[in-house]
Amino acid sequence: MKLQVVWFKRDLRWEDHAPLAAAVATGQPVVALLLHEPSLWAQPVYSNRHACFEYESAAELAGTRPLLGELDIRAVNAPEGRETSNDAAEGRETSNDAAAGRGTSNDAAAGRNHLPFFYVAAEATEAFEALEAFAGIPIGAVYSHQEIGIETSFARDRHMKKWFKKRGITWHESPYGSVRRGLKRRDDWNAHWNEVMFKEPLVQADWALGQAWKPSPPWIDWAQAHQVERPAREAGVAQTGGAAWGHRYLRSFVAGGRGRGYMAHISKPEGARNHCSRLSPYLAWGNLSLKQVVRNLAETRSGELLAMRDARAFASRLRWREHFIQKFESEPRMEFEHVNRGYNQQTFSTSSAHLNAWKLGQTGVPMVDACMRSLNETGYLNFRMRAMLVSFGCHALNLNWKDLSAHLAQQFLDFEPGIHYPQLQMQAAVTGVNTVRIYNPVKQAEEQDPHGTFIERWVSELAPLPMPFRAAPWMLTEIDCVGYGFQFGTDYPAPLVDLTTALREARIRLYGAKKRPEVRAEKNRILEMHVAPQRKKRG
Ligand SMILES: Cc1cc2nc3c(=O)[nH]c(=O)nc-3n(C[C@H](O)[C@H](O)[C@H](O)COP(=O)(O)OP(=O)(O)OC[C@H]3O[C@@H](n4cnc5c(N)ncnc54)[C@H](O)[C@@H]3O)c2cc1C
Repeated sequence: MKLQVVWFKRDLRWEDHAPLAAAVATGQPVVALLLHEPSLWAQPVYSNRHACFEYESAAELAGTRPLLGELDIRAVNAPEGRETSNDAAEGRETSNDAAAGRGTSNDAAAGRNHLPFFYVAAEATEAFEALEAFAGIPIGAVYSHQEIGIETSFARDRHMKKWFKKRGITWHESPYGSVRRGLKRRDDWNAHWNEVMFKEPLVQADWALGQAWKPSPPWIDWAQAHQVERPAREAGVAQTGGAAWGHRYLRSFVAGGRGRGYMAHISKPEGARNHCSRLSPYLAWGNLSLKQVVRNLAETRSGELLAMRDARAFASRLRWREHFIQKFESEPRMEFEHVNRGYNQQTFSTSSAHLNAWKLGQTGVPMVDACMRSLNETGYLNFRMRAMLVSFGCHALNLNWKDLSAHLAQQFLDFEPGIHYPQLQMQAAVTGVNTVRIYNPVKQAEEQDPHGTFIERWVSELAPLPMPFRAAPWMLTEIDCVGYGFQFGTDYPAPLVDLTTALREARIRLYGAKKRPEVRAEKNRILEMHVAPQRKKRG
């Protein structure tokens, strides 16, 4: 008899979880482990809001642990002592019981026990060493998804691979959705994505086959000594971690009507909060699998709950998700370097004053500041406004995307390395492949916030001003300022740069760089690696 360990990573759900199903199917004792690794959480991309989301997801896992083993009819009819499904759903269970995997006495008598789940603050080697020492039986195998993460987690995986091998422990890694490890060309990318999303079934573990490990007292003591502290919740971050919440967002978007008007609102910072799916943190932390969402949409579309245009646009974004993650998987150096090496000689501003003003939403450009303050407070911003923030930082201020990266990652509740780095570089125009997009924040305000309500909400200093001054207060004359009781440069900062000049200079700089031979040479290499053949021809 050997212990089968399910190592949870950013896949915090019980359903459609291939590693879990494989471990349960062995019929050997199973334990589930989620590690809160100090070395990973010390990285500048992670922040308290991520820790909170992970904690909430872990609490849900602890409160909804499946019962393993054959159902005994006598236990079902037993009059008392059974945990009700409501208790489990609401997480009413002491954390110690949850951690230790103590089921109720009737379940235990019936040979069924909750799958033990442990959420511990420890490095991977430390946790597995403790498990090895205290389990009482040898560790047979470890099951996890491949993690498409930052270099710190990849280095840990390389180390753990050797560590497991040395001890004769088999590590089964299931692919992360449609993403393929080390893929160098996209020849059959679409066919493979369709195969994974539509042809392969959702993975449902057969709980009846499983056997719950009975944790040993020394392991329970160790786990309790390494309990993860509950992080303080930030008032402005509305989304709560956990699969139940993910399903609620999905239902309200697809079937509940929130998704009607998806395309009409997708670029608007206020409208997108309600009409976009808001599924990104649930996908990023794995409360939902992409396949669950894709299937749900495919099944619901026939009921015509979403307009065809909205459903199609949403479906294509779901497809983009793993397209981007695959880019990062194929070329993870883009965490640190320009994906197009032709930009290595490019020079950038090193102004820390500009960088700090950008981070704080104090640039003196209202739409930029409103977006940044809203992101800093709530953890969410729609795609167009994320792109505009990067465009302003990289183009108008000529900052290096590398200097913007950690701040944005910390603020986005949905921080997903595989989307973050490729998107950041694309918007920063250092790929040499994509169309250069330089957003004018005043034009964006006119189009996406025509009444200035979003600016008013997040940059309340500008509330006394009507549009168009609210979006461009530098247009005020002295007499206007007197009329509105507004002191330009005191009530709100003057812009860091003259927008018209800065954007003109950016255009010259970026289009010039794109023509350089070293950038063009790299462009061909990038197309070869990251773009599917039919799109290469079109492009
Ligand atoms: C600089 C920058 C950084 C970004 N970083 C992240 C990130 O760390 N994590 C993240 O999930 N998204 C990121 N995005 C993509 C996009 O902005 C978000 O996915 C989207 O705004 C999330 O809101 P939603 O779930 O309501 O999206 P919806 O519009 O409802 O889309 C549904 C899902 O499709 C996927 N998706 C949507 N747009 C994109 C896109 N452009 N590229 C790839 N996948 C997409 C997401 O998983 C999203 O949850 C980034 C975009 C930019 C410009």
